[in-house]
Amino acid sequence: AATPSKRYSITLLPGDGIGPEVISVAKNVLKLAGSLEGIEFSFQEMPMGGSALDLVGVPLPEETLSAAKQSDAVLLGAIGGYKWDNNAKHLKPETGLLQLREGLKVFANLRPATVLPQLVDASTLKKEVAEGVDVMVVRELTGGIYFGKPRGFGTNESGEEIGFNTEVYAKYEVDRIARVAFETARKRHGKLCSVDKANVLEASMFWRKRVMAIAAEYPDIELSHMYVDNAAMQLVRNPKQFDTIVTNNIFGDILSDEASMITGSIGMLPSASLGASGPGLFEPIHGSAPDIAGQDKANPLATVLSAAMLLKYGLGEEKAAKRIENAVLETLNKGFRTGDIYSAGTKLVGCKEMGEEVLKSVDSQV
Ligand code: ATP
Ligand code: MG
Repeated sequence: AATPSKRYSITLLPGDGIGPEVISVAKNVLKLAGSLEGIEFSFQEMPMGGSALDLVGVPLPEETLSAAKQSDAVLLGAIGGYKWDNNAKHLKPETGLLQLREGLKVFANLRPATVLPQLVDASTLKKEVAEGVDVMVVRELTGGIYFGKPRGFGTNESGEEIGFNTEVYAKYEVDRIARVAFETARKRHGKLCSVDKANVLEASMFWRKRVMAIAAEYPDIELSHMYVDNAAMQLVRNPKQFDTIVTNNIFGDILSDEASMITGSIGMLPSASLGASGPGLFEPIHGSAPDIAGQDKANPLATVLSAAMLLKYGLGEEKAAKRIENAVLETLNKGFRTGDIYSAGTKLVGCKEMGEEVLKSVDSQV
């Protein structure tokens, strides 16, 4: 291995259920890919989610948040489980995750939906539509209708009960998510589609205006705009037309779930949440899968690919990221599959063995 020239500190939050199993694999993969590219990591494992609740009584201990804030990037497994499902809101594992996102001020959520050639059959779409799909949804995560005020319950002029929320975006909020999206498109294939409802909503008209203004900083990126209803349709009709999509919090919530489901493999999908500066948060999109926890059945590749996103989008270490992505493809090419992506003619392996195969492929790359 090369002499380490760069050092990064990584906070690992294994969490609950299959979290510890997939984090253990991703940690080893990061360590090896880093060492081959002259990067040395120091890892700090901290409690989070249900396991933190059991240990110290809160889902996000202060020490965990401060360790995360002081590190260069945070890699999270998964949190939650039946055990804590009936807890009060402030004692739910999921509340810890919201607190972590808030604490790290990560306003940009990146969710790729890629149909790998080896897993085309897993897609819910017809083969010819699914083949080659590689979409990245950039979702604004800390603004919009989920946070806008006024909100609440009340009565209208005629005394009828109502519920209401407000979609608000300030200039700085649209500008910063637009810049993340343009930068993301630049790291990918140079195309950005901004999704809004500017034919009806003022907040969307403003969104579109600001995205167009920021586009002047990125003359090399091809920008288009699409209404959200059409985008929802186009994603299943012809997803290959998209490279990078940027959209607000609520539309992104819906479209990123839609995009991930067309790949049909929840055990394969990573995510990144980024702030203006400071550490990003990287995690698989799947949950803690308590039904298979502790049985060495989990697919670790979503977390391994989250580690690749950590390198690419969190640390700017694109070569080490590519090494991991290539190793995942090679491992699939060799036919190794966990249960969630298994099909006839492939080799069924557990979480640990899948991890060992990825390590071999990381190591064997020139
Ligand atoms: P959450 O609310 O935490 O998102 P969920 O109930 O929505 O959880 P997941 O925990 O994501 O769902 O899992 C749904 C099912 O998909 C699991 O029960 C499991 O069988 C399967 N699954 C999820 N992740 C994986 C994985 N990495 N490997 C294999 N199977 C998985
Ligand atoms: Mg879920």
